[in-house]
Amino acid sequence: MQLTRKGLWAGLIREFRDFLPEIKDEAITTLLEGNTPLIESVNLKDIFGDIRLLLKYEGLNPTGSFKDRGMTMAVSKAREEGAKAVICASTGNTSASAAAYAARAGMKAYVLVPDGGIALGKLSQAMMHGAMVLQIKGNFDDALNIVKAITKDYPVKMVNSINPYRIEGQKTGAFEVSEHLGYAPTYHFLPVGNAGNITAYWKGYKEYYKEGIISNLPKMMGFQAEGAAPIVLGHPVEDPHTLATAIKIGNPASWEGALKAKEESGGTIGMVTDDEIIEAYRLLAAREGVFCEPASAASLAGAIKLKKDGVLIDGDTVVCTLTGHGLKDPDNAMNASPKPVKVAADVKKILKIMGF
Ligand SMILES: *Cc1c(COP(=O)(O)O)cnc(C)c1O
Repeated sequence: MQLTRKGLWAGLIREFRDFLPEIKDEAITTLLEGNTPLIESVNLKDIFGDIRLLLKYEGLNPTGSFKDRGMTMAVSKAREEGAKAVICASTGNTSASAAAYAARAGMKAYVLVPDGGIALGKLSQAMMHGAMVLQIKGNFDDALNIVKAITKDYPVKMVNSINPYRIEGQKTGAFEVSEHLGYAPTYHFLPVGNAGNITAYWKGYKEYYKEGIISNLPKMMGFQAEGAAPIVLGHPVEDPHTLATAIKIGNPASWEGALKAKEESGGTIGMVTDDEIIEAYRLLAAREGVFCEPASAASLAGAIKLKKDGVLIDGDTVVCTLTGHGLKDPDNAMNASPKPVKVAADVKKILKIMGF
């Protein structure tokens, strides 16, 4: 199948219509999400040598994370079905995205977030977009269980990634990578929380492969944080902990999907420490000029680890999805960086500090 794109980007439902569930035009709710850049790494050669490393910068979606890809589909479908309200449990980005797309659709959004541990940017987004924000005394897994219980009996549409339309929208990330490169990478690295995204990317690659748009498939490489690594450990984690709050999940909803992606592609589900995550987070910002949030950097941390282990070799093409924007989480950014220097408004004193 030959693909041609022309004109201005129309949002991913219209751009990828042939590959998505049918939807009435008047129900389409879009903020022109998708079409994010695939940025070639140029300053990490000391680590990666002659591996081609590319960064799929999902922080440049309308609300600053890949969640918009799934949300345009989920909210559009909910609207088509006549829903008046959506609900989700969230570690932050899903709530920001649900709130924005619900506002756009003229729907009410209810978001359940853990009380504490939500990055400031994400919480402020959900509030600004007019969602009802419910901070529960519990973690993400508790919040998701409550959402499941409510949507069973009440007329509010669940927009967590167990909503199949979320996965449908998110698979378009793999379409874009395939179109940008003209082939699939050797390895595709992703952070893994609820495991919806790795499930979605694998689905997307397989669909493009089946249509003959790409003639190879990547190995899917999912990385969890060490303190929240249920899939690696093989059992749910009761009290997950990591500073990468977007992947602080103890019982992933798409566990099976992640295992299938790993097994079918010959990939891995691994884990990285918070120190490794923060190191990758800083490298991306300070050396490549790409600011992602901590959870996003778990993908690069995984790639660095597997390069050190000799799994990645020269000539490989490696894509890391950077799932969310760094501005979401100013607190972690401040903690990971040298402090500003306080100095008198005096040219001589400033020059001295500058080293001249
Ligand atoms: C949601 C999220 C993840 C985890 O994605 P899953 O589909 O739940 O595995 C990773 N990073 C960021 C920034 C997120 O918002």
